[in-house]
Amino acid sequence: MKFLLVFPRFKYPSGDPPVGPLSLIAYLRRELPSVLVDFFDATFTPSLDAIEKKIELFSPDLVGVYCATLMYEDALKVGIIAKKHGARTVFGGPHSTMAPKSLLSRSCVDFVIIGEGERPLVHLLESYPDMAKIAKNTAIKIRGMKNQENMAKLQLIDDLDDLPFPAYDMVDMGRYIRHWFQMDVVSPALRGTNVFASRGCPFSCSFCQPTLTSLFGKKIRFKSPERLIEEILFLKEQYKINSFIIDDDTLTCNKEWLLKFCTLLEEKKLCMQWGCNTRVGLINEKILEIMSKVGYRRMMVGIESASQRILDEVYNKGIKIKDAPALISSAKEHGVKVFAYFMLGAPTETSREMQKTIDFAFTSAIDEATFSIATPLPGTFLASRFMQNHYRGNDDFSKVDYYRGNPRTVSRNIRSLRLRQKLAFLKFYLHPKRISFLLKSFSSIIAIRKSMLKLKRLVQVKGR
Ligand code: SF4
Repeated sequence: MKFLLVFPRFKYPSGDPPVGPLSLIAYLRRELPSVLVDFFDATFTPSLDAIEKKIELFSPDLVGVYCATLMYEDALKVGIIAKKHGARTVFGGPHSTMAPKSLLSRSCVDFVIIGEGERPLVHLLESYPDMAKIAKNTAIKIRGMKNQENMAKLQLIDDLDDLPFPAYDMVDMGRYIRHWFQMDVVSPALRGTNVFASRGCPFSCSFCQPTLTSLFGKKIRFKSPERLIEEILFLKEQYKINSFIIDDDTLTCNKEWLLKFCTLLEEKKLCMQWGCNTRVGLINEKILEIMSKVGYRRMMVGIESASQRILDEVYNKGIKIKDAPALISSAKEHGVKVFAYFMLGAPTETSREMQKTIDFAFTSAIDEATFSIATPLPGTFLASRFMQNHYRGNDDFSKVDYYRGNPRTVSRNIRSLRLRQKLAFLKFYLHPKRISFLLKSFSSIIAIRKSMLKLKRLVQVKGR
């Protein structure tokens, strides 16, 4: 039995390795030693021809395709190639979990896995090709099979410490580290990568949920701090990193975990610079002080909008915009750089509200910001509330893109919104206090290369 997993990242190249799929590969290798497992990462080889060649050479029985909504179109193309070469296909990932029916209406999709992939995929590979046996697992949906239970029971890994280290050997980690720009604001010379400590999120932001809950369940699960330290030590020894980002959605909601992690960082004398996501209202001065003493240098925070109405009525964000400035200045006092996520063009958002967000970002002490176009992704509360006429049945998700927005998924004039987005970036980064960051971004060949990669998120990329 041969299984090939494809990560079809053709658009928006990034220095962040696909840790989730690599974790899945490592799990399969451990649980099913008799299955030959391989991985194709399109990040640095965005070529369908290369994928086809890989399939020809490896000749897999089953091709797994990771499918986030931004990858939808390319994921289907991979499915078509796999079928052409006689393999069956299984789709997983966030889009697959949120829109399984529309995927299964495509002849290039044989199976869809709902939620966390490890355990259902093991069941599928063990049972293949016995369809009746495969169908016993409700997290696996099968094209054309009638009487399948509608409700999928998530098959979660109870103890994340039980997962093996992600299969970093399956990707070009050297190249990922060279392209990694997460800590450039501290120094573009830092060598680092992303790690994960948890799965799930207890909050209910309308543009994001219930996707995370559908993938990972209601309860947030953590690796132990000891286990994450082990992983970081491994990466430090193996790939000589001196920096990392804990890329969890909301790491700081578990204070006890965080404090233990900081204690271990100090005890083990890791001496690394690191960052993580947080939320307004989820981290206090005292914890920031402890974190900064053990190398915490970059805070990423979703502020989304400076309009409390948009935060409450549209995004269900659960934060108070009036609390954001205190968090930002507290971080700055402890030498922590602040990156903020904003969105423009929410349903019902007025021009004045958007301008308020842009002005808030501009005048704040935030070091870096991104302004996405508010895009209701399939299955989210935002989509079901504001897009009743979209995402039905066999829909075309190929135009869904929150970097560039598109006329089908935003509720206003897309050209003026894109223009406003560009002006927001220009205004923000051309502020005199951020010029030094811009200069730093073009101060060396490494820095220029990474900056170009970041800019690609604003400019349409033709990967093939
Ligand atoms: S946006 Fe962040 S905080 Fe909100 S639900 Fe998603 S992961 Fe959780």
